[in-house]
Amino acid sequence: MPPPITDLVQIDRLGTKKLAENERFRKHMKRHNFSDLKFRRVAEEIEGQIDCRACGNCCKVAETDITKRDATRISKAMGMSEHEFVSTYTTASAFDDEMILRRTEKGCIFLNGNDCTIYEDRPDTCRNFPHLVRGNGSIESRMWQMIDRATYCPIVYNSLEAYKDIMGFQRNPVNR
Ligand code: SF4
Ligand code: SF4
Repeated sequence: MPPPITDLVQIDRLGTKKLAENERFRKHMKRHNFSDLKFRRVAEEIEGQIDCRACGNCCKVAETDITKRDATRISKAMGMSEHEFVSTYTTASAFDDEMILRRTEKGCIFLNGNDCTIYEDRPDTCRNFPHLVRGNGSIESRMWQMIDRATYCPIVYNSLEAYKDIMGFQRNPVNR
């Protein structure tokens, strides 16, 4: 496997350029058999080569879903009531009305530079992100989320490229 691309400007440019190709690849995966375990291992290998603490891009650009279980854990760690935590640090998603962490112009409210200020107690979705190595269900069932994630997450972008090579997927000629 070639070394992963980690430059976020490049990831944005390439992931955006390949939106249509990646959508076509998602449908290709749906129609063909592949080993979920093998693809998780490929993503794990790529994840091992990328320093998330140096990147932090998902905390800057993506909404962070938060569950009641997360809220209970984090509020306890912060020494406040769950009610106070929810009203101070969460809001409703503009997309689906689910509870998410509040955001500032720099990203998640708990982001300080590239550091998560509640790292030990962060929400489950943050622990599992970008949900290629860890997550419920098959990779194929989560592929619809990966097309957008490939525009900002180096783990997702590089994993999709590796999957295309493994499956012998025909890339769009302009993207080769
Ligand atoms: S809680 Fe921490 S890890 Fe999760 S999005 Fe916010 S800053 Fe990032
Ligand atoms: S999960 Fe992706 S976007 Fe988030 S910090 Fe790691 S490499 Fe960057």
